[in-house]
Amino acid sequence: MEWGSRVGIKRTIKQFVLRFDITRDSLSWLARRHCPILMYHRFGEGSREISAQTFACQLDVIKHSFNVLPLVEFCRQRREGRTDWRKCCVITVDDGYRDFYQIAYPALRERRLPATLFVTTGFLNREIWLWWDVIDYLVSTTALSSATLECGGKEIHLDLTTPQGRKSGWDAVASLCTRINNSDKQLILNRLAETLHVSVPQVPTERYASCSVEELKEMAEHEISFGPHSVNHPVLSRCEPDEWKREISDSRRHLSARAKGYVDVFAYPSGTKEDYNKGMEAFIESAGFDAAVAAHCDDFLNESQFCLRRCSPSRDLVDFLWTLNGGEYLRCRLSEPLKVMMRGLKHALFPRGKHAPSMNGSGEDRKTNAKGFKDATLL
Ligand SMILES: [Zn+2]
Repeated sequence: MEWGSRVGIKRTIKQFVLRFDITRDSLSWLARRHCPILMYHRFGEGSREISAQTFACQLDVIKHSFNVLPLVEFCRQRREGRTDWRKCCVITVDDGYRDFYQIAYPALRERRLPATLFVTTGFLNREIWLWWDVIDYLVSTTALSSATLECGGKEIHLDLTTPQGRKSGWDAVASLCTRINNSDKQLILNRLAETLHVSVPQVPTERYASCSVEELKEMAEHEISFGPHSVNHPVLSRCEPDEWKREISDSRRHLSARAKGYVDVFAYPSGTKEDYNKGMEAFIESAGFDAAVAAHCDDFLNESQFCLRRCSPSRDLVDFLWTLNGGEYLRCRLSEPLKVMMRGLKHALFPRGKHAPSMNGSGEDRKTNAKGFKDATLL
């Protein structure tokens, strides 16, 4: 079957289910064990941003039909054993960009909806640029029309003449940077700056700016809470244990000391399945955090309080409603037993595991997993 027609059929099914009370309520009932935790990043008119209009529309839908729980309340109820989450959701936003204060916060405040902002504390303190913004700044401001970045014996060709070309360049370099350690990443960023003949300002420019501590204080008065999201936003699975422990503990200490409305829930930077591991979950649990959240919305069989799944809301209203009513969760839950069965079959056929993929999520596996653009957007 053609890919386009499969997408069309899926969309028709979603529209049908969402259209009638009885089918929509049935979907919610089937997915009642799941409370969607929505995960936003940036707000504005760019290709990777949610516009003010779309966000307002989504909040109106939520306000009309859902009970929005503060994250800390959701964690408490989950610990106490609540299992029916029909018509509930949680709103979270990552990183701590200023556009949250400028665009999202007024919309949330107007509707009196709670949300949690996960803050990268080095960014809040104006000590660092977020590393993917350095790439964006470099490819956006260079006067060159093309360039070749050499890294590790490979070459990335950058077409800088069109927005699409610059976006593809950003994708390629950001994707590479999520697969290497911090010192190698810094080398790549320095080399990119040299290659493009651009110097990066000391402090992020307006487009890449963080909220201020004063803005956090103001928002805390209006149902916005704040959780740690590391100090420097490295991919933790690319760090040595001492480093990732420091990133978790220091961001907790910095934020809890500075932000009224602090919640003791950690958000894994990047947060795909390859970006954190069981050791980090155990460390966060033993450190006494309430919970931790990931940035993917699948593999619910392995979900715990210290790797709660989050869904990235689509700009498309049908897909947004589908996720909100538990459709995406249900699709994953139904496909997971099938995947487990296939893995079991593979291990039965390859008992020594020579050709079977590892199931323990080790670093070696992660090194070989090529990550695409979709991963690089979940930062
Ligand atoms: Zn992030």
